[in-house]
Amino acid sequence: MRDAEGFPVLDIREGACTFCGACTAACETGALVAGRAFPWRAAANDACLSKNAVQCRICEDHCDAQAIRFRLLPGGCSEPQFDAERCTGCGACAQPCPAGAISLHPFTPQPLMETRPC
Ligand code: SF4
Ligand code: SF4
Repeated sequence: MRDAEGFPVLDIREGACTFCGACTAACETGALVAGRAFPWRAAANDACLSKNAVQCRICEDHCDAQAIRFRLLPGGCSEPQFDAERCTGCGACAQPCPAGAISLHPFTPQPLMETRPC
């Protein structure tokens, strides 16, 4: 789909990205290039039901990458934790979220720390 200015938009509320590459093939200007790392990762905001003491694990059930774990919190709440190393940014967790709490955010991989002998 396109936004109001005509630019292409990936709306994960409509469904997940399969990384099939069809968008790069269709791009006439070369603005979308295949093979680049996808620099987006999922996160949940405070509308998440689990954060508000309502039992829900729907996002975890839809994540093939097993990137979501839950951290227990006081008061019967729990918080989904998204592993940025496992998350592909596919968005499959967002569409089924009953609270619409999940969105994608820019992600920059951290360089590995150089280890030196003592
Ligand atoms: S599916 Fe949505 S509401 Fe349910 S735990 Fe995940 S983020 Fe929270
Ligand atoms: S965006 Fe995809 S890989 Fe990342 S947490 Fe959601 S379902 Fe899992």
